[in-house]
Amino acid sequence: MTDPLIRGANRMLAITLLGTGSPMPDPHRAGPATLVTGGAEQFLVDAGRGVLMRLGGAASSAGQLSAVLLTHLHSDHITDLNDVITSRWVLTFEPSPLTIVGPIGTRTVVDHILASLEPDIGYRIAHHDDLYYPPPVEVIEVTEGKIDLGGQVAVSCAPTDHKPVEPSIGFRFDYDGASVVVAGDTVPCEGLDRLCAGAQALVHTVIRKDVIENVPVKRMQDTLDYHSSPEEAAKTAARAGMETLVLTHYVPAFPSGGGEDWRELAAAHFAGTIELGDDLHRVEVHPS
Ligand SMILES: [Zn+2]
Repeated sequence: MTDPLIRGANRMLAITLLGTGSPMPDPHRAGPATLVTGGAEQFLVDAGRGVLMRLGGAASSAGQLSAVLLTHLHSDHITDLNDVITSRWVLTFEPSPLTIVGPIGTRTVVDHILASLEPDIGYRIAHHDDLYYPPPVEVIEVTEGKIDLGGQVAVSCAPTDHKPVEPSIGFRFDYDGASVVVAGDTVPCEGLDRLCAGAQALVHTVIRKDVIENVPVKRMQDTLDYHSSPEEAAKTAARAGMETLVLTHYVPAFPSGGGEDWRELAAAHFAGTIELGDDLHRVEVHPS
């Protein structure tokens, strides 16, 4: 029988910010990716640059993932999906299908990734007697509602607003009384509000609009209209009565140990706990 104290300690969801960076390469921040774990289940939300290195830093690996969940198909959120697919395939020693959940369009992207890997798949099947099958991948395209992944952690999704990137979705995880929403890239919207209602923690990508709007580069300014600022993310968390806001995807990135100004901007609109930091920053969400 499980010790009640140990059982109690397990009643939580853990959030690990695997990559707090953005499309801009940064020597210290990997691309967008977040790990959510509940019990023995591990969910990778987005698969940006360097995701497998950071998974290793979080004592996880492609082989341990219950599923990969994609918020949208912007390149910075999926650059290393090929690495997740290939590493899962090569480094597990029996067929271990990788479940990839994402918005409509995900299947096409995965098919193209697999097509790009065709030479590699051929080399490895020819070279390893026990690797006689291509990467087993199951793609589930979703729009809204519960997603049946067969585990103890309940996963659901709702549409977000990252236009003109369409469709985009956020994910919610409910496990034994703990609840976490991972928003991805979005402006404040009704779909995200719906997903957040009654949840405890919100992981939200943000950009400093007050900084970017003064950068005289059109391509940077173009990003203002489809991301949230720390203030907007804070208002979303406050509207839903959440306990914790976790900021990630820092544009422009702040140095390690910094970010207090980001926290203050959010704190003006949200009275709960605000978390931010370096890659591998970890937040535990216990049932309230
Ligand atoms: Zn995006």
